[in-house]
Amino acid sequence: MDCLFCKIIEGDLPSTKVLENDKVLVFQNINPEAPVHVLVIPKKHIASMNDIEDEDLLLIGEMHKAAKEAAAKLGIDESGYRLINNCGKDGMQTVFHLHYHLMGGKRLGALTGISPEHA
Ligand code: AMP
Ligand code: ZN
Repeated sequence: MDCLFCKIIEGDLPSTKVLENDKVLVFQNINPEAPVHVLVIPKKHIASMNDIEDEDLLLIGEMHKAAKEAAAKLGIDESGYRLINNCGKDGMQTVFHLHYHLMGGKRLGALTGISPEHA
């Protein structure tokens, strides 16, 4: 399959792994936007949040568990962090393999992208 993150899972493209188990991989973002910015992905190819099926619900829990463990491993569990999913065009999703951005290591500020009339 022509998917960037599937290639990373298969080892066909390099990545700096933070945590891995049989269901989930956490690796460093190549273009970090915070002092800590890693990506949490399922090993199963799911294109986006819109493509999550009932059979994937335990896997989504595994992603949250891996994110929590990665936060502790990276030393941001006490200081706090954000777990973000971008979905589709308006969400600015660029890689169509489901992923969470786990970000922290500094005060992240208020959520951006909310125009005043919708704030
Ligand atoms: P999104 O815009 O939510 O689809 O996020 C895709 C993320 O993948 C971006 O933050 C990119 O910096 C990141 N990214 C793209 N290619 C790679 C790569 N080869 N290794 C690690 N992160 C990547
Ligand atoms: Zn994929």
